[in-house]
Amino acid sequence: MARVLVIGCGGVASVAIRKCCQVDDVFTELCIASRTKEKCDALKKALEGKTKTNITTAKVDADKVEEVIALIKSYKPDLVMNIALPYQDLVIMDACLACGVNYMDTANYEPEDTDDPAWRKIYEKRCKEAGFSAYFDYSWQWAYREKFEKAGLTALLGCGFDPGVTQAYCAYAKKHEFDEIDNIDILDCNGGDHGYAFATNFNPEINLREVSANGSYWEDGHWVETKPMEIKRVYDFPEVGQKDMYLLHHEEIEALGRNFPEIKRIRFFMTFGQSYLTHMKCLENVGMLRTDPVMFEGREIVPIKFLKALLPDPASLGPRTVGKTNIGCIFKGIKDGKEKTIYIYNVCDHQASYKETGAQAISYTTGVPAMIGTAMVASGLWNKPGVFNVEEFDPDPYMEALNKYGLPWVVDENPKTVE
Ligand code: NDP
Repeated sequence: MARVLVIGCGGVASVAIRKCCQVDDVFTELCIASRTKEKCDALKKALEGKTKTNITTAKVDADKVEEVIALIKSYKPDLVMNIALPYQDLVIMDACLACGVNYMDTANYEPEDTDDPAWRKIYEKRCKEAGFSAYFDYSWQWAYREKFEKAGLTALLGCGFDPGVTQAYCAYAKKHEFDEIDNIDILDCNGGDHGYAFATNFNPEINLREVSANGSYWEDGHWVETKPMEIKRVYDFPEVGQKDMYLLHHEEIEALGRNFPEIKRIRFFMTFGQSYLTHMKCLENVGMLRTDPVMFEGREIVPIKFLKALLPDPASLGPRTVGKTNIGCIFKGIKDGKEKTIYIYNVCDHQASYKETGAQAISYTTGVPAMIGTAMVASGLWNKPGVFNVEEFDPDPYMEALNKYGLPWVVDENPKTVE
């Protein structure tokens, strides 16, 4: 029996909300709140008569802590699902603390304005000390650990697919499959085709910031940084086929490096087609990926925000995307004194996702784990006081729920490896 406030009503949130409504014995009350209330009202209307969940809607600007606090005080949820953007993470965590409610999200904090001198000072120090230069990192949210502990509240961070499910795979492998894990390669393959020359499959601003940044991986207790797209590999993905993939910095590496310090190397690879890369490079070269304001006809505009307005809304890709995703982790280590390698992965079909939820598989593979993580906290299976990443909880009930709610996983005992 949970009363949940969802903030955000984009591609990922729509799937999470639809899945919550399928599990209406757990999610009895749901408030959908976002900047554009019309989207929340339209989703409520689409779900009416299909669920026992009692749905209400609200308008909120989650950049303003007083607005979030007022909404939480009036709705009185047990938990807030933050499925807006990483920019709002700290504001929503502050509001949860002020009101005494649990928190979850799907992406770690990143500032909207990367030129803010106060943030930049801390960022530059972190780049030097930690050795990676991505705009996003966990230090901001991990700093809330004591506050959540003292308040007796749970904050569950990064509970989408990657981050999220990939860390549950790691916790599962550690618990059941290995005595010692040496290497983890996290692979994210989108074999889908939406027919556009260029589109991103989740929020364009967040996606392009991530993909155009330097790559990095964790080795022997420290970061090794690479130029963007410097390391390329080709991998033959089960049910998808052969794809080019590139090493990226990704947030779960930071959490896994801290929580499983015994692991020697952790890398993350994502597949990209040549058309995507060529478009991205061109947009970058002409300055369209800039995140700082520029003057245009007497007013300030942020180029990447303007670009977002021109690109297809990821939430609209559902009907036209065909193909499958394959996302998982290759583990190398030791079991019973012998070397062992396995690949734990999920395959998700874009059209099957669309038929069930009206969204393509990237939104689906993120929204379903968000619902499951929330159910874990709400049901008491994952509610300990503090701020946690997925791998810090018992993976078993979560892994069982992935099979039950649409993201079944496979353990390949004889996978191809990545050199
Ligand atoms: P969308 O852009 O489709 O949706 C974002 C939603 O948040 C929109 O409804 C938007 O409102 C709302 N929003 C933005 N700013 C505010 C604000 N200040 N106050 C209230 N609402 C706001 O994004 P996605 O659904 O693609 O992504 C959602 C999140 O999921 C992102 O944080 C993304 O990084 C994360 N993600 C995580 C993945 C994982 O595997 N862990 C994979 C993919 C995404 P409006 O409609 O007005 O713009």
